[in-house]
Amino acid sequence: MRRITRIIPAQTTSDGAGVVLKRSIGSAGLRRLDPFLMLDNFGTSNPDDYIAGFPDHPHRGFETVTYMIKGLMRHRDNTGAEGLLKPGGVQWMTAGRGLVHSEMPEQSEGEMSGFQLWVNLPASSKMCDPRYQDIDPDDIPEVDTPDGLHVRVIAGQYADAVGPISGISVDPTFLDVTVPAGGRFTYSLPADHTCFIYPFEGAVKVGERRASAGALAILEDGEEIAVEGADGGRFILVAGKPIGEPVVQHGPFVMNTQAEIEQAVQDFQAGRF
Ligand code: MN
Repeated sequence: MRRITRIIPAQTTSDGAGVVLKRSIGSAGLRRLDPFLMLDNFGTSNPDDYIAGFPDHPHRGFETVTYMIKGLMRHRDNTGAEGLLKPGGVQWMTAGRGLVHSEMPEQSEGEMSGFQLWVNLPASSKMCDPRYQDIDPDDIPEVDTPDGLHVRVIAGQYADAVGPISGISVDPTFLDVTVPAGGRFTYSLPADHTCFIYPFEGAVKVGERRASAGALAILEDGEEIAVEGADGGRFILVAGKPIGEPVVQHGPFVMNTQAEIEQAVQDFQAGRF
């Protein structure tokens, strides 16, 4: 049974053109959690905190996953690809050898909340062609159990529901789980997959340890997970196979060696993305 090994309170910071967000993975308290490079949780009803969005910026060597809880985000890239992320929808973008894109709010008021997770690619896939999996809210299967659990399956499987995300190197699991007070969510995973939960409403318990909204809870290796509802809570559960390779990161470029980072900077500056 996996217990919580560490709880990392998310740090408030800003990114893009001034979007206020809470960062856990990728902050001073937790640089990386192989295969995950960054986890941001954004959530505000104040347009000043999100309106400037994320104008044109590059990525190379990894994947960005945007899971919208509330609000609308417009995505555009330098190949002309474009999409609208809707509440409850997800975009799994495999940046591969690189692209330049913008992520901008398509609203001027109201609440915007969700997550952006960065997932590393193994050396063999870092220079692959970019690929998008844009999933509408209605295409994410949901499971309601008799004891009041509500589970949205973005990647991986829960009960008979299989998430729509496919063909990802680290064999990811990404669930959005609501557990009522007194409820219990159980799950099985390959014992060596890195796994964390991030509550964003209420609080839950894993064994004797409580995990509350706004902090990342890392789970130790093991096959079984049990999360109890405590006062009732909602969390994402994310897992993936560790890559175990050297990581050299320069902002939005994540490669294996310094030479590859220098190449990425040159390619970007020369317009080769
Ligand atoms: Mn981006």
